[in-house]
Amino acid sequence: MNIIIFGPPLSGKGTQSKMITVDFGLTHISTGDMLRAEINKKSALGIEAKKYSDEGLLVPDLLVAEIVERLYNNHHSDRGILFDGYPRNIDQAKHLLNVLLKKRDLIHLLIFLKVPQEELLIRAVKRAKDENREDDKNSDAVMRRIEEFTNSTIPAINYLKSTGIKTLEINGNQSIEKIYETIKKELS
Ligand code: AMP
Repeated sequence: MNIIIFGPPLSGKGTQSKMITVDFGLTHISTGDMLRAEINKKSALGIEAKKYSDEGLLVPDLLVAEIVERLYNNHHSDRGILFDGYPRNIDQAKHLLNVLLKKRDLIHLLIFLKVPQEELLIRAVKRAKDENREDDKNSDAVMRRIEEFTNSTIPAINYLKSTGIKTLEINGNQSIEKIYETIKKELS
């Protein structure tokens, strides 16, 4: 069972991903977590990625695509993978489907958490304080991340949907438990 979880920044996809991966034994591939770890290590990739993520922009496809491919190839025989934060645009979506196809594998489900923009902005202020996340502190960068989602990621979701992949759209403006209940029902 391979799943992609989509949602704008601050939609709660990281939280839901952790619950799904624990309960259903899936491997979590999160490009955001991976890039933050590289930024903290100050690796060459981290230094390059930081220039973009600080501005709320997507890092160039080449920087993430190669790592996602390597991670997937290392884990493709696991029980299943939850992709969180990848793909973010149509090219990445095509790339992911091709990487999977090489192993005769596919995506079984898309989960899309929908949250209105006003709520995302409220959450950004809260998370910047609670988790000290640099990328939530700058409100211009938060706005740009939301715009990247609208302009690049929504078309990727639509592209994947058009290939016939089943999609579960959820109102993300509910409690963590309520959202998870809907996901759990679908996966059980
Ligand atoms: P996230 O935690 O998924 O919101 O990701 C945090 C930041 O990492 C994003 O704002 C982007 O700058 C970068 N990032 C994460 N995933 C990708 C991706 N698939 N493609 C490009 N940039 C990404």
